[in-house]
Amino acid sequence: MVVLERATFPRSKVCGDGVAPRAVRALHDMGLEQELEQAGYRRIRAFRVVGSWGEAVKAGIRRRNCTPDYAYVVPRSHLDDMLVAAVRRRGARVIEGVRAQGALTQTRGSRLGVTALKADGSTFVVKARVVVAADGSRGSFSRSFLPRGALTPNVIALRAYMAGVEEVDDALHFFLDKPLLPGYGWIFPGGRRGAPANVGVGMPVPALRRRNMGLRDVFSWFLGPESVAAAHLARARIIDPPQAFPLQLRYVRGRRRVGPILTVGDAANLINPLSGEGIAYALESGRIAADAIMHAFVSGPRVLSSYERRIDKAFAVDYLEGYALRRILSVPWVNGGVVRLLSRDERLAMGAMGILTNTIPPGRLLQPSLWTAILAPSRLRATLHRVRPARG
Ligand SMILES: Cc1cc2nc3c(=O)[nH]c(=O)nc-3n(C[C@H](O)[C@H](O)[C@H](O)COP(=O)(O)OP(=O)(O)OC[C@H]3O[C@@H](n4cnc5c(N)ncnc54)[C@H](O)[C@@H]3O)c2cc1C
Repeated sequence: MVVLERATFPRSKVCGDGVAPRAVRALHDMGLEQELEQAGYRRIRAFRVVGSWGEAVKAGIRRRNCTPDYAYVVPRSHLDDMLVAAVRRRGARVIEGVRAQGALTQTRGSRLGVTALKADGSTFVVKARVVVAADGSRGSFSRSFLPRGALTPNVIALRAYMAGVEEVDDALHFFLDKPLLPGYGWIFPGGRRGAPANVGVGMPVPALRRRNMGLRDVFSWFLGPESVAAAHLARARIIDPPQAFPLQLRYVRGRRRVGPILTVGDAANLINPLSGEGIAYALESGRIAADAIMHAFVSGPRVLSSYERRIDKAFAVDYLEGYALRRILSVPWVNGGVVRLLSRDERLAMGAMGILTNTIPPGRLLQPSLWTAILAPSRLRATLHRVRPARG
């Protein structure tokens, strides 16, 4: 196996660095979780969401069938370096500092080829039976063969590392202040003792256009005194310039296979539309692709089409439901009411965090028994009764 990588490791990647339970499971299955523990990353066991009414709900992460009851925060400069080292240990040849440019057409009897550009301007060709495009949402390689529009970003997100952020250590924090909708803000604590927090905002591109605003304006507002997060950020300072990166949160637009080329992760539009989580799906789709390729080597290239089916089976319904849920929660009174409801019922709150962490399918919300419980008169009365807004 040959890996072509544009950057040289360790390299930074604009990300919230949240390694949520599904991603922890994937890393565990690869035998890498222990490395995180040995490197001093601590387990974070709760999520906290502040709704548009200023109230907050904090809930522990519940252990599910195959996912643990904790997350990590790991800077991508470290996480991805660790992954590349693991790939090398397993025998892959990783060529860094080269840009995959495009796939050469496969002719009868010949193998597929990928042209690669070195830093000195020279090119070379790597021959392969199957190619996996894992070049992310800005990847020029995927753009060379995917139909126009498949990788058009519809969300943009920005993060900065900040020191001096207060009282965030025990949870991953999400903020749904009205001016941040239909996006959200986050503060993720440093993953190791003394590490800076990861602070960011994400927003759909059409919403920014409608408001005639840039994402940096939204971020400045988030850091300012009017946002609920201000309580955590009063003494904080940015230690690394804020950086933005595009995302495609439209599963239906994505293509998972073009002939013998499979796409994985962001190149396949596999970012959860509700949470923006993508690390787990990049790892999971990589594994499904590896499986499909092994089958194709035994049974012939036709079975590669099973990859698309397996990806659809694994993600399509959850993503479409997640997309619908995100739209609904973008309405301030809806998320305000939901947060209030959850803040008064620990079991419901833990279930909701399961949906946010993608360990419970959003479709679970359609269960009639859940609604019978939510609409119980005593609970409704409590929800409609206002409480004082959360601080921070
Ligand atoms: C601001 C922000 C915050 C986020 N926060 C989180 C979070 O907290 N948790 C989470 O799970 N997800 C988060 N995500 C999503 C997550 O970052 C992505 O889903 C994840 O990185 C996808 O991994 P990937 O391997 O598909 O792509 P990438 O991580 O983008 O990796 C693509 C790789 O391909 C290389 N490359 C690109 N083009 C070429 C080329 N032509 N030739 C060779 N190499 C190339 C790049 O250098 C890069 O190393 C966030 C995203 C953003 C933008």
